[in-house]
Amino acid sequence: MILHVDMDAFYASVEELDNPQLKGRCVIVGGQSKRSVVSAANYAARGFGVHSAMPVFKVQTICPDAVFLPPRISRYKELSAKIMSILREFSPLVEPVSIDEAYVDITGCEKLFGGVREIASSIKKEIKERLDLNCSLGAAPNKFLAKIASDMDKPDGLTIIMPEDVDRFIESLPIHKVPGVGKNTNDKLKLMGVSTLGDVKKYPEEVLAKRFGTFGGRLAKLADGIDRSAVTPVSETKSVSAEETLPEDTEDKNLLEKYILKQSEKIGRELRKLGIRARTISVKIKHSDFKQVTRSATIKEPTQSSEVIIREAFELLENYRMPDKARLIGVGVSNFISGMEQVQTDIFERDDTKSSDWRKLDKAIDTITDKFGTEIIKRASLKGRK
Ligand SMILES: [Mg+2]
Repeated sequence: MILHVDMDAFYASVEELDNPQLKGRCVIVGGQSKRSVVSAANYAARGFGVHSAMPVFKVQTICPDAVFLPPRISRYKELSAKIMSILREFSPLVEPVSIDEAYVDITGCEKLFGGVREIASSIKKEIKERLDLNCSLGAAPNKFLAKIASDMDKPDGLTIIMPEDVDRFIESLPIHKVPGVGKNTNDKLKLMGVSTLGDVKKYPEEVLAKRFGTFGGRLAKLADGIDRSAVTPVSETKSVSAEETLPEDTEDKNLLEKYILKQSEKIGRELRKLGIRARTISVKIKHSDFKQVTRSATIKEPTQSSEVIIREAFELLENYRMPDKARLIGVGVSNFISGMEQVQTDIFERDDTKSSDWRKLDKAIDTITDKFGTEIIKRASLKGRK
């Protein structure tokens, strides 16, 4: 399940928060000249028909008592960061889409925090209690529906579309609510007898693709309830690695493996913390003469499992013919991706490696090391288990 969290009248709400005297009044955040437009209006102002992008001179005529304030972006950013970090307490898969909006993939978090409704309510409660701000929240099996859901009950809304409700929801969803359907497309669709997303199913995908290009194909998919876009956490991380200079130069691969084991474990833990998966695994060796060699392997299924990293790193070391003793050994991963599609293939298609068992083991080890440190628990060498 995916959540879409959208703060209510964010800029205006922050202004009310910082200046309680504004409560109950019409608050408009925007440029200060007559030619400016509204960036944000609180719900009091919206009651008069004020909306964002409305010219300020027009607001003055319909809402003469409104308070006009210049935007304070750095303050909004500061609160935005706090909101995102609250969301990350619930799942590592948080994708901010703007200063006041984010997707959260809560697939697999249910065991920790309860069902979808519990998680959604807790998020709303945490944001309210810690920041005194309201948000509206939509939950659905994909991003597209979650975004529509969050808009349905604003402000302070909570709308959940369970998988079994998706078909019925799509049947009745007005087509203009679908992001990307502007006035033009809406008119064309109307002529085709399409007024809800469900109506799109009257036409085969090829017909839609011919008439609307790529967007036609997407419409057909959406009408079937399919939106495969993954929640992609922004990550500045390009690579994660660990390396150690050995106490003594060695060419004993068994000894080097012990280092690799520990380093891979650390990297796996880091990946799981960041909620990202790596596709490329590398082993780095610096020799006694300081010559440095890197060997890399790219795997088919991106991973965050320590087990997989260990196995790949071992194989890289095994296949490397050491010309000289090593003075430093390290493991690194790169080529990151993130999102739930990969998680699913991992769970359902990789029975050969018993990936879900390793996931449980990883999780157990993570919990123990978080509590007691890395020294308390160590994975036995993989030798003999291959
Ligand atoms: Mg908003």
